[in-house]
Amino acid sequence: MSKEQIDFESILNYIHNEVTKEVQRGQVASYIPELAKVDPEHFGIHLRPIDHSPIGIGDFSTPFSIQSICKVLSLAHALKLLDTDIWKRVGVEPTHEPFNHLSLTEKGNGIPNNPFINAGAIVVCDMLYSQLENPEKDFLDFVRNLSDDSSINYDKKVYASEKANGYRNHATASLLKSLNNLHNDVEQVLNFYYLQCSLCMSCEQLSKTFYCFMNGGKNIVGQEFLTPSQTKRINAIMLTCGFYNDVGGFAFNVGLPAKSGVGGGIVAVYPGKYCISTWSPGLNQKGNSLLGIKALEMFTTETKLSIF
Ligand code: GLU
Repeated sequence: MSKEQIDFESILNYIHNEVTKEVQRGQVASYIPELAKVDPEHFGIHLRPIDHSPIGIGDFSTPFSIQSICKVLSLAHALKLLDTDIWKRVGVEPTHEPFNHLSLTEKGNGIPNNPFINAGAIVVCDMLYSQLENPEKDFLDFVRNLSDDSSINYDKKVYASEKANGYRNHATASLLKSLNNLHNDVEQVLNFYYLQCSLCMSCEQLSKTFYCFMNGGKNIVGQEFLTPSQTKRINAIMLTCGFYNDVGGFAFNVGLPAKSGVGGGIVAVYPGKYCISTWSPGLNQKGNSLLGIKALEMFTTETKLSIF
């Protein structure tokens, strides 16, 4: 994969031109009122190959709410601190349900199917809450170190907006508590979960942050955050659970481990080769960025660089 072989810049410019012509952009998430204010016309894409300088097109440097993409980062933090112990409290199986489905914890022992559905992510938050002295600060420090970027921060307006409307997550956390898979106070764990979801990053920052998952566990400045084995597991869960009930469609159309968020962001990795992020706030019916998926499908088709 060298510059001579693939002209990434032309491909990304072509994708940007094609995708931004689209009239159907999907619906901006409105169940978190602060997200409903975002202009659906935004579109950004940023590519960070392992052996080529990074390329950004469109709104690639505008920060947005990463929402569920944070679940990969909290899983990474928990794996770093607790390693395989975390699998005693959360599974690794995909579901065919939406991200906020409640029945997942009702099925039996209170162990959510995977760490990327809300129930699983709330359990991971609970684990971190027990481990960290100052969860708000320590998690942010972890993300800033991972990305080598101290400008990354929470968006407290988005946090407050989700907290004020978080009825389903409250129900999920209460159900987990009743099934003995939440060790801390429901409100405190949910506050921490909403803070994580409110993390704000641009496509450029997302590609930098996820470099570690593309690079066997070493971040952008070569610091080892995860073992190659832990990195392999996270990428596998992204591939099988990163798009909720749209995961088969994403694997079929794009063919990369990836994670989406209701803020309209998607970040995808090709282990050992590149990281790519897109942002378009309009979502499809399954809550994933409509144009982001289209752009990534075009990218892996044009470059022939999918894992399949
Ligand atoms: N904070 C959102 C929620 O819990 C995340 C959902 C998502 O991005 O998929 O509802």
